[in-house]
Amino acid sequence: MDALTSAILRMKAASALTYRLALLLRRDHSRPILRSLKEHSLRRLRGEKLPTVVDLSLTYRCQCNCVHCYADADARDTRNELSAEQWKAVINDCREIGAPLLILTGGDPLLRDDVCELIAHARALGLITRLATNGHLLTRDRVAALKRAGLTQAAVSIDSPDPETHDRLRGVSGAFEEAVQGLRNLREAGIPANILTYAARGNVSDGLERIIALGRRIGCMSVFILYPVMAGHWSEATEEILTEDEQARVRALQTWRMVHSEMPARDSLCCTCKTQMVGVTAQGEVAACPTSPYTMGNVLKQGLKQIWAHHAASFSVDHPGVCPMNTDWGRRALQVHAEKVREELGVETVPPGGPDQAPLGVTEQRGTGKAC
Ligand code: SF4
Ligand code: SF4
Repeated sequence: MDALTSAILRMKAASALTYRLALLLRRDHSRPILRSLKEHSLRRLRGEKLPTVVDLSLTYRCQCNCVHCYADADARDTRNELSAEQWKAVINDCREIGAPLLILTGGDPLLRDDVCELIAHARALGLITRLATNGHLLTRDRVAALKRAGLTQAAVSIDSPDPETHDRLRGVSGAFEEAVQGLRNLREAGIPANILTYAARGNVSDGLERIIALGRRIGCMSVFILYPVMAGHWSEATEEILTEDEQARVRALQTWRMVHSEMPARDSLCCTCKTQMVGVTAQGEVAACPTSPYTMGNVLKQGLKQIWAHHAASFSVDHPGVCPMNTDWGRRALQVHAEKVREELGVETVPPGGPDQAPLGVTEQRGTGKAC
């Protein structure tokens, strides 16, 4: 890719992001949010390395059992989740390391009774929150509570425009209707609603187009198209990785205002390789990307601030337009980096789950969960 194309792509991505941000801020004039965004920009101008997003997997409990689950939710340890107070301390650290956006995901984060308390805490600190959910619990009452807590926006997963297919892929009958009703409830309550979907072999053209049309009918703010990552249930799914041609077809569906693809292009924002993101598991383990199984430390022991400082200081993985998780070299690079940070921080290799589990960060584990 030449320098001009690269600059144009960067400008397009930045404009789309600015547009989405402006839309959110038009509806939500929170002073703390404006202050934290201003601080983020000034610190970046001073040359500090700051994350754009911190992905918090609040729980791995979930009502679904999706075929594509990045989080491997059905096989994950659902014990020893961080408490509300521990998550609040993590959120304080997110503010200090300069992250303007938190993605609250899982599992289904709405299975935590304290999710509104955490959203209210983040909001008071000026952080933008995006809840990623399967939509089962987005009843009118729950949505009203999320609104009162100050949730900035929500994303609900739609895997297929056909209710039966969606339900089959999710392993729950009625899941499609609940997800669509959840999106409508968000709209009614004035919370910007987004559809989260993914491009897989079967839906690259027609399926995605119909999901986008559904989003327009409901009045969603955005449709985010993710791409298959070899993590979780798909950790061996090489057949799901899209060819360049298929990726190009997905990118062609993008629109400036509404349809955003998070396919890993050399200039895409969806890449941990630009040190834009970090993920925290329900037990407090920190990884460079939420889909990466190679963890660098634990928020309860080393603290997010310290882990971030070591990570940001040395992370460097060449990113030739593919997701590192989908290549052997990329996974190896993530693993080597995680081991380096662990060594610097003196992190023991026995995970919080107990000595009978393989050590995290050393042996390849299952994926660590991305938005559902
Ligand atoms: S490693 Fe892959 S999934 Fe993670 S941020 Fe980078 S491109 Fe996205
Ligand atoms: S993809 Fe999301 S909704 Fe589906 S099983 Fe995994 S965590 Fe649950």
